[in-house]
Amino acid sequence: MDHRNWCYFVYDPAHSPFRSLRPLRWLPRALTSRRFFRRRLSLALKTHLKFRGYFDLYNIPFEHISLFDFSERKNPLQPGGMNRGPNIFDRLRERGIAWHVSDPTLGERQNLDGLLAEIGREQIDFAFLYWPALDGLLHRVGNASPEVPAKLAAYEPWLRELMARAHEHYEEVHLTIFSDHGMANCDRLLDLCARIEPLGLRMGREYAVVYDSTMARFWFFSERARRAVEERLRQVHEGRIVPDAELEELGALFPDRHFGELIFLVDEGTLIVPSDMGERPIRAMHGYHPDAPQSYASLLTNYDDVPAGITAIPHVHHLMAAQAERAFQLNRDFASPPSGEWDLAGGQVAERDHAHA
Ligand SMILES: [Zn+2]
Repeated sequence: MDHRNWCYFVYDPAHSPFRSLRPLRWLPRALTSRRFFRRRLSLALKTHLKFRGYFDLYNIPFEHISLFDFSERKNPLQPGGMNRGPNIFDRLRERGIAWHVSDPTLGERQNLDGLLAEIGREQIDFAFLYWPALDGLLHRVGNASPEVPAKLAAYEPWLRELMARAHEHYEEVHLTIFSDHGMANCDRLLDLCARIEPLGLRMGREYAVVYDSTMARFWFFSERARRAVEERLRQVHEGRIVPDAELEELGALFPDRHFGELIFLVDEGTLIVPSDMGERPIRAMHGYHPDAPQSYASLLTNYDDVPAGITAIPHVHHLMAAQAERAFQLNRDFASPPSGEWDLAGGQVAERDHAHA
């Protein structure tokens, strides 16, 4: 992947921002594994380290935390938010297109209200509304719960409200609704750590590992460790080592092995628990193989000329860029003011972006 925003924790002691937490390794695990304690500490650290993205320490043991870096230091909803390369907001800024984007620290209704107000000002060509609560609900209740259709039904009047307001202020409104992944129920739990630990390999000396919810990612510092782990993983039937050729095909092969030298991926429906992401089981999860039946995301539009090639998340970037550009051109032609006025408008856009940052 071009943007290098894939998994949360990576082995990188030289760049670890967590060295200050090393003294905490002596605290009893009964305390440090508690959600409440970790959430409070995560918030304090986020402020202290000036992280702009979503930050959570999850369940990573303090004993080893200084071996790891964390790959989402920036806010992906702002320009410069990816680890590498431009996101949609960099594109918009570069083109001088005025936009609105949700604040992920606010609730869904508040973000809708923010957008409704912005539409009333008629200054924008493009808006990105972020509603993450469906993800949280699905994790909690699973994909077959009646709470899921109830939540979708609750979005309907909000979308009607949004479209009604947009049509009051804009002649034509293109709406694109997309999710970034599906959600699979977790019916099988796998304590992978309990299969690796008995090998007796020393963490940070012979190998390093991050246990995600659906993957385990390994780094090796000795051939002996590599062989032992590979052999053990072949006996774990709930998942498999993903070959490099397949990683490459999926856009997940990193030449510098930034996210791990060996990727073990579990089958859909299996949850690695405990993991560095959670101490306790959760009803449903995403992050399985993209071809797994519950991995499919959705794309809904109120226009019908969606290009045929829009089949994966990176393509949605191109779809958004094309839609924003189209709106920008139409609004500019509609206004058709003398050119001087547009220099001024460009200046206002730049100023407002500055206020966002
Ligand atoms: Zn999620």
